[in-house]
Amino acid sequence: MRELKKLLIATHNSGKLAEFRDLLAPYDLEVTSAGELGLNEPEETGTTFEDNARTKAVAACEASGLPSLSDDSGLCVDALGGQPGVYTADWAEKPGGGRDYLMAMHKVEDALSAKRATTPDKRTARFVAMLCLAWPDGEVEYFKGEVEGTLVWPPRGEKGHGYDPVFLPDGYAQTFGEMATGAKHGWEAGRGDLGLSHRARAFAKFAKEKLGAAA
Ligand code: IMP
Repeated sequence: MRELKKLLIATHNSGKLAEFRDLLAPYDLEVTSAGELGLNEPEETGTTFEDNARTKAVAACEASGLPSLSDDSGLCVDALGGQPGVYTADWAEKPGGGRDYLMAMHKVEDALSAKRATTPDKRTARFVAMLCLAWPDGEVEYFKGEVEGTLVWPPRGEKGHGYDPVFLPDGYAQTFGEMATGAKHGWEAGRGDLGLSHRARAFAKFAKEKLGAAA
């Protein structure tokens, strides 16, 4: 196993970065981020989670010389043919710049209403996280995590970030927006290594292969 001593998290998204810091806390690793180093945010022009994850990890790795871990993630709604998918962040773009997730959740809800998707069986969705680890020698590796659930309306909970308040993971009574961080990661449910959230599940694969045992 190649040793990872310092890792750059290739994101400017504060919600994702906070989750990665929590997930990495048990490991003996120096962590920095693209935002903290003032790196440019590359344009995400890919049509798959892999493409965009690779773009972000490789750009950060080339700019910093450090092994870089990116996350491209999104919400895929079955009744909408998998939308917003790789365009999940774009659905939150405000006309004047910046992001508004309440507006984005309304857009998803309006699209579901237009399809008369009112019962839980018609409102199934999954969060997907594709992590990409880019090494300075040009090698890239992928780790994928998914979590299935249904979309609720109105949004519930003030915790988390992004679309968390409308996502009810299967088998749980609380949305990700109502769950404490540890519960969203799956740490409080005896789920062991697997995790609950898409990011925790992808991270579990990354940690098992690349970090070994927690410190
Ligand atoms: P990306 O930065 O292009 O990967 O965009 C990911 C989009 O999915 C952003 O709009 C995020 O807010 C949303 N998203 C990803 N993971 C989560 C999550 O764990 N909870 C809520 N929204 C998420």
